[in-house]
Amino acid sequence: MAFAALTCAANAQSGPPTPDTIEAHLAAGKNAAGGRDNTPDFYGLVTAICVAPLHGAPAPDAPAPVEDPNRKATYLEPKQAFDDVYWMGTRSVSAWLLTSSDGYILYDTANVYDAEDVLVGGMKKLGLDPAKVRTVIVSHGHRGESGGVYLFQSRYGARIVTADWDLIEGSVHGYPTGKPRRDITPTDGMKITVGERSVTLYLTPGHTPGTISGIFQVHDRGQPLTVVYSGGTEFNFPNDVAHFDQYLASERRLAAIAKEAGATVIINNQSQFNGAADRLRMLADRRAGERHPLDVGADAVARYFKIEDECAQAQQLKIMGAGKSQ
Ligand SMILES: [Zn+2]
Repeated sequence: MAFAALTCAANAQSGPPTPDTIEAHLAAGKNAAGGRDNTPDFYGLVTAICVAPLHGAPAPDAPAPVEDPNRKATYLEPKQAFDDVYWMGTRSVSAWLLTSSDGYILYDTANVYDAEDVLVGGMKKLGLDPAKVRTVIVSHGHRGESGGVYLFQSRYGARIVTADWDLIEGSVHGYPTGKPRRDITPTDGMKITVGERSVTLYLTPGHTPGTISGIFQVHDRGQPLTVVYSGGTEFNFPNDVAHFDQYLASERRLAAIAKEAGATVIINNQSQFNGAADRLRMLADRRAGERHPLDVGADAVARYFKIEDECAQAQQLKIMGAGKSQ
């Protein structure tokens, strides 16, 4: 049983393959965090999936989200991230607003009790009109991504794009303010367009059955940059070999798509994975000629996917009870 998995640990990266042991995969994943000036690019990602990975999927009848009376203490200032993209979030959750001359695309929607203050309030603080959100992309159906969907659908009539409708509809207590109505289910390669903006979506199941990822362009001081939006990251899915195989296949495919597209920016829905909150704070100190803090380069984007790849392999070996060092 263990033999089959030991023979299929194809390494998506160039260079010598990592020895197929838990320790070697973890070391390779951790080593891939390294960044410029000895500052790790992705220590948050390494912590989340290599050092202290989550296990198992949340149950459909998990208790309802709790409205934390101190939740506002976790809110961060909304920020303009690029010429045509804004960030709204907390220490842990990111949502991104892609603007156009004909309305906005909102990419992920925070937790249910934070959506009003962080998203609607955030846009107003930024001088943007939340009623101009035409389309909402939900990278997967967990609470930190889908919490504000009902608000934007019911109040502003935004179209909702997610491949996790089954997960959302199957949740018993997850949407205490109202459950969103099923709307658009994306197909692989579908383009979502609002005005001159478009996002190309790819089906990347693994983190959840309907996790989707996107490629789009942003502008930084007038220059175009290509972004890959990684839709799902942690291992809080059924921890069996088949689910890890699916996760690995999706992340390898997304790594290849990002490379082909020339992506030099990687963003997602939880700011600890790519350090979004810290990097955006650095923008205020950016000098002329310096790269945008989120423009980490194609090699770093590849390292991000390598961390996912190596640490998923380590976890897969752990659950098989195989791969111990000789
Ligand atoms: Zn999730």
